[in-house]
Amino acid sequence: MGLTRVSGLLFGGDYNPEQWPEHVWDEDVRLMAEAGVNMATVAVFSWSRLEPRPGEYDFGWLDRVMDLLHANGVAADLATATATPPPWLVREHPQVLPVDATGTRLDFGSRQSYCPSSPVFRTATVRLARAMAERYGDHPALAMWHISNEYADHTLECFCEESARHFRRWLRERHGSVDGLNAAWGTSCWGQHYTAFDQVNPPRKAPGPVNPAQLLDWRRFCSDALLECFELEREVLREVTPEIPVTTNFMSVLHGLDYWKWAGAEDVVSDDAYPDPADPTSHVTVALSYDLMRSLRRQPWILLEQAASAVSWREVNAPKPPGMMRLHSLQAVAHGADGAMFFQWRQAKYGPEKFHSALLPHGGVASRGWRDTLALGADLKRLAEVAGTPTTAHVALVLGWDSWWGLEAPESMPSNRLRLKELLQAWYGPLHAAGVAVDLVPPLGDLSGYRVVIAPNLYMCTGEQAAWLEAFPGHLVVGPFSGVVDSDDQVHEGGAPGPLRALLGVTVDEFWPLPEGTVQPLRLAGRVVPARTWAEWLRVEDASGDTLGDAFGGTEVLARYEGGDLDGQVAITRRGKAVYLGCLPEDVTPVLTEVLAAAGVEPVAVVPEGVEATRRGDHLFLLNHTTDPVKVDLAEPGTDLLTGRDLAGPIEIPGRDAVVLRLANSGARRTDTESPLTNEGER
Ligand SMILES: [Zn+2]
Repeated sequence: MGLTRVSGLLFGGDYNPEQWPEHVWDEDVRLMAEAGVNMATVAVFSWSRLEPRPGEYDFGWLDRVMDLLHANGVAADLATATATPPPWLVREHPQVLPVDATGTRLDFGSRQSYCPSSPVFRTATVRLARAMAERYGDHPALAMWHISNEYADHTLECFCEESARHFRRWLRERHGSVDGLNAAWGTSCWGQHYTAFDQVNPPRKAPGPVNPAQLLDWRRFCSDALLECFELEREVLREVTPEIPVTTNFMSVLHGLDYWKWAGAEDVVSDDAYPDPADPTSHVTVALSYDLMRSLRRQPWILLEQAASAVSWREVNAPKPPGMMRLHSLQAVAHGADGAMFFQWRQAKYGPEKFHSALLPHGGVASRGWRDTLALGADLKRLAEVAGTPTTAHVALVLGWDSWWGLEAPESMPSNRLRLKELLQAWYGPLHAAGVAVDLVPPLGDLSGYRVVIAPNLYMCTGEQAAWLEAFPGHLVVGPFSGVVDSDDQVHEGGAPGPLRALLGVTVDEFWPLPEGTVQPLRLAGRVVPARTWAEWLRVEDASGDTLGDAFGGTEVLARYEGGDLDGQVAITRRGKAVYLGCLPEDVTPVLTEVLAAAGVEPVAVVPEGVEATRRGDHLFLLNHTTDPVKVDLAEPGTDLLTGRDLAGPIEIPGRDAVVLRLANSGARRTDTESPLTNEGER
């Protein structure tokens, strides 16, 4: 199945015409056409307007919107409108409203006011999704289905009785019997032995720390429960409109939902990303999200939402200075997006997001924002041939949600300072700076094609996962506090890294978490550098457990601690092609440089600091995230698609500007500018 019916790169945004009188709509679509908008996301929060009373539909206004869009060359990413139930549903059935961990039922008046397990809610969403599919399935504007919106943004979990019953059914499925559950959860601890499933509750607010195994299953359950909601709607859409692709907009690297599982249930991955303009490193953080989105289905994805300038939900909402909106949009494309879309088209007049920027700002067509919108639309058209082109990476970062959930369980860990996103970024940052392309992979994912695999943290590691890493023929890097527990969050006996001990040739004698403000120095690449957050007392031994000396028996010591409590102890080791770090050095670049060189991994391009280089097919993206001009020496000549100029040798890229080169020497070029994801010709 294709991505959408639209060729080239997607450009547009969320469009909420129901917030405006109809005479404004004509101006909207005229300006959309002027800006080159080719897709609009509609009806995301329209349930109460589309179904004002139970089973009574008012589609007239949306019919007119869909017709207007189509008449102006704009395709619809049509929402099923189920993101927020209407007032009549929650008043008639208060049990639809979610309940928090203290037992408080949250009231209507915001959004996502639903219990994911509520049969009343689920039945109502499926009924609306069917009505939408039957109404608009044949509409020529319909290009993609957009189920719900930003799942888990506000409502990830509900602790009501209905959710408790659902959780028990899920647990019975997973553990088979209550004895199975007792064994998995280790309920002999603190006298929690259950004799029936109906004694088991969600991890509601309790007098002290909750059983971490119960919490882990709850995290799994909550991701699955929302996924069921998604799948119920998707089944209806597939039945009525099998040819229309289905997505739901993800929220970058989100803790609450296992996006590997979710991506497998949709036809195309889309993401909402809001890098903070005030954070000078936000383009690095967001690049990791984009690489994850591309990796989830190993195909191009859609940036479905970003801000044209400021958002409305931070403490201080910094605007994007000139050039940043364009640069960040091009960055998404550089990382595999086949579209750069926005929340939202026209800036709202009321509501919590009235100060959230938009493609068409309050100031109208005279504003800086509107000029930027016109310019970006033109730029994305110039890049049409990039749509559908692939990204090749030889380095993969391992990210698994089960392990993440276990790692960040509150109140029972050696340290709450080990945060997975930070551990990922500790490796991703230097890779990004070095211009090395990176994919993400799930535990047990396909590793063919990769030369280097980095597991920044694999707290939870099963025997099967250890065998998966052992079978990888390339270079492996494993970060600290890995191989600690099994899939039930039970500690591997004999010490960490548990099933990875034979592969890595080390055993953790004792964890050595570092309180904030303290460091454990180590000597790395000839310098003494601090490890922050975490260290370990390591024993170097072979698989049989015999302690060995430096560079002996296969396990080499790459770095030792110098000073501090762990003075002289082993910090970083290597056995064969497998490197283990028992700490998190302030900068992992020296380790990375050596591994990349040994694996023969080359950067996409050699670029100065602050410049990002990525490649899609025959296209080289060079993005200058600094405010100053930079010089880049091109290894290959090419044509800059943004300016049409032929470039070679040393070039200058102005501050917050970009070059997208179609490389001249890359063999046969695409003549077909249509995305391979396209399932119909040009609209
Ligand atoms: Zn509930």
